[in-house]
Amino acid sequence: MPKDNHALLRHLPSVNRLLVLAEGEGLIARHGRPATVRAARAELDGLRRALVDGACDPPDDAALMDAVARRLAAEARRALQPVINATGIIVHTNLGRAPLPPEAVAAVGGVAAGYSNLEFDLESGRRGSRYDGILDTIRTLTGAEAALVVNNNAAAVLLALSALAAGGEAVVSRGELVEIGGSFRIPDIIQQGGARLVEVGTTNRTRVADYTNALGPETRLILKVHQSNYRIVGFTEAPVLADLVKLGRGHGVPVMEDLGSGTLMDLGPFGIPDEPTVASSIAAGVDVVTFSGDKLLGGPQAGLAVGRRDLIDRMRRHPLLRALRPDKMTLAALGAVLRLYEDGAHPPVARMMAEPLDAVAQRARRLCGMLPAGAGADVVDSEAYVGGGALPDRALPSSAVRLAVADAEAVARTLRRASPPVVARVRDGAAWLDARTLADADLPAVAAAVAEALS
Ligand SMILES: *Cc1c(COP(=O)(O)O)cnc(C)c1O
Repeated sequence: MPKDNHALLRHLPSVNRLLVLAEGEGLIARHGRPATVRAARAELDGLRRALVDGACDPPDDAALMDAVARRLAAEARRALQPVINATGIIVHTNLGRAPLPPEAVAAVGGVAAGYSNLEFDLESGRRGSRYDGILDTIRTLTGAEAALVVNNNAAAVLLALSALAAGGEAVVSRGELVEIGGSFRIPDIIQQGGARLVEVGTTNRTRVADYTNALGPETRLILKVHQSNYRIVGFTEAPVLADLVKLGRGHGVPVMEDLGSGTLMDLGPFGIPDEPTVASSIAAGVDVVTFSGDKLLGGPQAGLAVGRRDLIDRMRRHPLLRALRPDKMTLAALGAVLRLYEDGAHPPVARMMAEPLDAVAQRARRLCGMLPAGAGADVVDSEAYVGGGALPDRALPSSAVRLAVADAEAVARTLRRASPPVVARVRDGAAWLDARTLADADLPAVAAAVAEALS
């Protein structure tokens, strides 16, 4: 180590000296003393190494404080925190999917801080089942004989395959061998579940006869997968669900459907005519249906499996269930959301889909009116999307505040650094704030973030 580099170390301030600077007090007020001390120490450690290596000159205190402030800000951005969704994508997987209704938030709060009867039967004083409080509601809403809840739909599919098809074959159409986001691939899940995949049909056309020809003594399951995040259009053919069910019945092979989003209500009135409901699949005779809790259902991350009692019981008895079981907060939130449906009410996801364009446009105009004059903002027609791998080709009419700025990417980046962060969409060289996914309560914070970003 060169001697003069070593001498430079003496010029570095101590953590304490650094933090008594005026900027230090500001950082402590914002981030707390422990985090600020940790950041200052980390910054000084890094500098010490760089100085010894001769990689830099000693900075002055102000530059050092800036570095500490940047480090704290970067840490704060990485921490899980609420953000404002101005993308117009309602079920945005990167933004935590479905916002919960207040009833669900209250239910989570009610069990989170203390004890609960999660696995305790208050009647008998004996051990109970964590699922008991919720399964009746799921059965009522879907018309299914039996139900089960796990951590997410990927887990529900894995558990179903493990319990129903392990050691045998699962028959799937080539048009349905999908990859959902996050590397969830149907062929991999089938293999992970211990089953062998038998592909039938072609990418665009699969007939009942293709399934019939594939059935054999090793067949354990006919699996149908909802084409969530893509569409095959043009010269296409797929069997009617009822015909597949008939085929399965005839051969004593259960038919399972991975519905993906799995809506509990008819979305036709919301302008989304072709999304099957869970109840319609059950009514068509599908033996096991799996779907997500936090897509169109509008609840917490969860996977629901409903269907024939003997098959759901096999899933329930499978050792894997212990590794996939939902926690008390998930069950509390899901229960509250399902009760909303029972009462004929709807969670925020459904309300966002259903809100008339007039009301959305009015919110966009209100936001635009709150922005500083000269922000280059106007209100424009826009398209919102359901998202979450659901209905990728179905845009919902929407309205947005468009910020015509020189560098839209830079403005979007600054908005993401606001507190709370605002996630906008960059389109046609402008930053768009879509009002369909904004709540009225978000508007002051969005307006403040925009004013700040443009100043
Ligand atoms: C989204 C989706 C899944 C995965 O569901 P998660 O709840 O995200 O685990 C599985 N299958 C289909 C068809 C989906 O759309």
